[in-house]
Amino acid sequence: MNEFLSRVLTLAVLAGLPLAASADLNVFACEPEWAALAEEIGGDRVEVYSATTALQDPHYIQARPSLIAKVRQADIVICSGAQLEIGWLPALLQKANNRNVMPGTAGYMEASSFVVRLGVTGDPDRAQGDIHPQGNPHIQTNPHNIAVVARELGKRMQKIDSVNSIIYEINLEQYLVSWSTAIKGWEEQAADLRGMKAITHHRSWVYLFDWLGIEEVANLEAVPGLPPTAAHLGKLTSEFSDGGAEVIIRAPYQHAKPSEWLSERTGIPGIVLPLTVGGTDAATDLYALFDDIIARLNGVTTGG
Ligand SMILES: [Zn+2]
Repeated sequence: MNEFLSRVLTLAVLAGLPLAASADLNVFACEPEWAALAEEIGGDRVEVYSATTALQDPHYIQARPSLIAKVRQADIVICSGAQLEIGWLPALLQKANNRNVMPGTAGYMEASSFVVRLGVTGDPDRAQGDIHPQGNPHIQTNPHNIAVVARELGKRMQKIDSVNSIIYEINLEQYLVSWSTAIKGWEEQAADLRGMKAITHHRSWVYLFDWLGIEEVANLEAVPGLPPTAAHLGKLTSEFSDGGAEVIIRAPYQHAKPSEWLSERTGIPGIVLPLTVGGTDAATDLYALFDDIIARLNGVTTGG
């Protein structure tokens, strides 16, 4: 334990703060990565619920009554934002009518508002089918973004549940130290991936690629959010039959057929990468998520 942590821990004991378990803060996360992050910072002080699993497309879920009840109980709602949840979150917030988590309050947090957003085109015309009109919302694939979001989330948790403020501060500092060490390790492990050319199903990985120096050469979706068409796949087949890409990547919830179809015709290997915690058996927490993403990408270059 570093000096800072032992100092705040001593303060906590002197202040007579309870160090035993009891969930004091209800966190409603739209996606599993933010649920996992809230658990890292909140420890046993939080009760965390994720609206989606890694096997669901967070662009499209139903605003079920059970979700409304969870939002009604929430002290914090944390979502990716940038319109990722536009099809369901506004309805949940409206029906839950919980003033503590309405947009504009400390209890409502859009993670993508705190990072440098990629893919901002300035074109708000959703009629064209592009479901990323405010830039790419899949920010969790760069671990540096997760650290930025952690700081902001920690700040909000301290503010809203001030009794446990020092606990959140300790947990956050511990987390940021170990996360930064982990990032260095991943960057070393991923050194050979720099310059890799990848075809992806959806534009789910732009932050990962930006971080690791991977080049996205094509998408199976002609327009983000529209299913791959036969015409587009045919075009990609002729474009990449003589090389030009080393891997075809999809998330667990994206249909296997389009990438398998292209893989068969071009010989480019297709892989599944976990887009969030729980996306593969190995991706059990935020650390294991990036361990697995990098191991799977390295498996392509080594033929494993
Ligand atoms: Zn998307």
